[in-house]
Amino acid sequence: MPICLYCLNDKPVADFNREHVVPEAFGKFKNNFVLHETVCTDCNTYFGKTLDLKLGRQSIEGLDRYDANMKRPDDKTRFGGTLTLSARINDGGFADGAEVYWAAAPDESRLVLHLYPQFGVTDGGRTLWFRSEQLPQRNDLSRHGFAQEAAISVKSVGMDADLSFGLLAAKGYSTSKPEVAGGTQEGEELDIRISGQVDRLLRRAIAKIACNYLAHDTQQSLRCHRRWQCAGSFVTGRQKTSVQ
Ligand SMILES: [Zn+2]
Repeated sequence: MPICLYCLNDKPVADFNREHVVPEAFGKFKNNFVLHETVCTDCNTYFGKTLDLKLGRQSIEGLDRYDANMKRPDDKTRFGGTLTLSARINDGGFADGAEVYWAAAPDESRLVLHLYPQFGVTDGGRTLWFRSEQLPQRNDLSRHGFAQEAAISVKSVGMDADLSFGLLAAKGYSTSKPEVAGGTQEGEELDIRISGQVDRLLRRAIAKIACNYLAHDTQQSLRCHRRWQCAGSFVTGRQKTSVQ
């Protein structure tokens, strides 16, 4: 019986399915590398729901799929707002530093940028942006580096003035109606700064592609290599140590 490359269990052939060396979400290539009887269905399914999903939906590479026309957005498509992929306006203007996300245009032909409903709190020096549901109580602003006695002003984007005024009053802000910019205009170009982090899950997803490539060339012998246990365990998440 074949042995699964990752869980190292020997299983009947029927318990294996095709594993694409590069996840299919990133495109189908001519002469695509595919592993047969190498990764069991259980591991394949687990990877699809965790590592491949993370790489496809929360990484800059995942976003590139839309630029490359490998995937069309639908109304549920949403990118950004995660530790591993986020973006902020970077134009030095009213909404500089405000957080944006990508979602489908009304005709679903492309991704466009949207502003989260959020507040920009400033003491005249720096400005911190908080999504509307994460705005701290006025009395707790000192935890975010504002001096307790500092004169604070607040602006909001992504929501109308009445809503933002009500939310501010509920959190103890005695500001008059805040300055408001409602949102981005259709067709407007925004200067943004994209931030990405490669966290442990993304490292495992990338390591799986590298391991799959190795397996494609070496087949059975890879499992017997003395260093394989470490690499395979890193991909499956069974082991905490990182692979050099
Ligand atoms: Zn397995």
